Amino acid sequence: MIDKFSRKIDYLRVSVTDRCNLRCVYCMPEQGIIHKQPADILSFEQIYKIVKAAAALGVEKVRITGGEPLVRKDLPLLIRKLRTIDGLKEICLTTNGVYLSDYASALKEAGLDRINVSLDSLNPERFREITRGGSLEAALKGIDAALEAGLSALKINAVLLKDFNSDEVIDFAFLTKARPLQVRFIEYMPTGVNHFSYDKSFFSAQTAKAICGGLGELIPLDSCQTGPAEIFKIKGFSGTLGFISPISRPFCGSCNKLRLTSDGRLRNCLHSAKTIDLKKALYGDNPEVILSGLIAQAIELKPKAHNLSQEGPGRGDFSDYASAAEAENFSMCQIGG
Ligand code: SAM
Ligand code: SF4
Repeated sequence: MIDKFSRKIDYLRVSVTDRCNLRCVYCMPEQGIIHKQPADILSFEQIYKIVKAAAALGVEKVRITGGEPLVRKDLPLLIRKLRTIDGLKEICLTTNGVYLSDYASALKEAGLDRINVSLDSLNPERFREITRGGSLEAALKGIDAALEAGLSALKINAVLLKDFNSDEVIDFAFLTKARPLQVRFIEYMPTGVNHFSYDKSFFSAQTAKAICGGLGELIPLDSCQTGPAEIFKIKGFSGTLGFISPISRPFCGSCNKLRLTSDGRLRNCLHSAKTIDLKKALYGDNPEVILSGLIAQAIELKPKAHNLSQEGPGRGDFSDYASAAEAENFSMCQIGG
């Protein structure tokens, strides 16, 4: 599907839960969020039907996300089911890695292609602080288990936070020296729940790139540039580095994504609250036809660009939220990043 700004839309992120075993300071409020009712969460069968309809329209890549996707029971069953969909070329997962050692081989066996692990500090104390209680050891064990299971094209995603982990850019870059990993630095994005810390914590991925340049020549790998990241390799290193700059170098012009929330709402921009309810279509007559029409509508309405330069809480297009309070409660864990 090509949208009206000539972007090919072929990537669907699927949030399977709004629950999480961590409380990352930039993502969730300390007290957590108000969760959706279990009855509102899509079943695996419903997710399958929606992904199948999206694949029939040209979606080739699906990323399973959350909250934390591995808190959803029996996730490998979903992967196995999605694997049977014609036209779907790639199934990936984004996880905080804490439960990954228990599931890595079952996920690989079920047909998962790739994993991204979110890891914002290599220091156990800091990791605990940033995740409000998480174990770095468990996340690292998860990474090892994924590599052992053969999920080798693994990416590590670190959200950059000034005066918190920005001094770890070099340590992260060194992870790629001997191992064929990709470490990606992601700019902190404002949401409803984090606007208090956003302005003082933003750290540009372009600055991280300059810091990495101090370790050796940064060789651009244009052939790897399929997503929002600019990819480089430090000369002599085995792995690669990615720099994702939604704020300092927005990539909306090449955005190929749709997002499905865990309660069945299709979102055509991470930073817009406008959603289309797909769940209703699953209960009516001709669900395939109705789903196809609604997905096409979401693509048709996909905005040209986000609006994150606006000041204050509720940056982006929040006009569709029911109330200001709801806009202020907007958290990335409800959508899956
Ligand atoms: N729990 C899983 C994880 O942490 O990987 C999946 C869901 S999480 C919402 C997906 C991604 O969004 C993570 O890489 C996380 O670091 C990122 N994220 C969350 N809040 C963010 C923010 N305000 N700015 C930038 N990235 C954010
Ligand atoms: Fe949970 Fe992921 Fe959000 Fe951290 S970033 S609180 S792990 S959903």
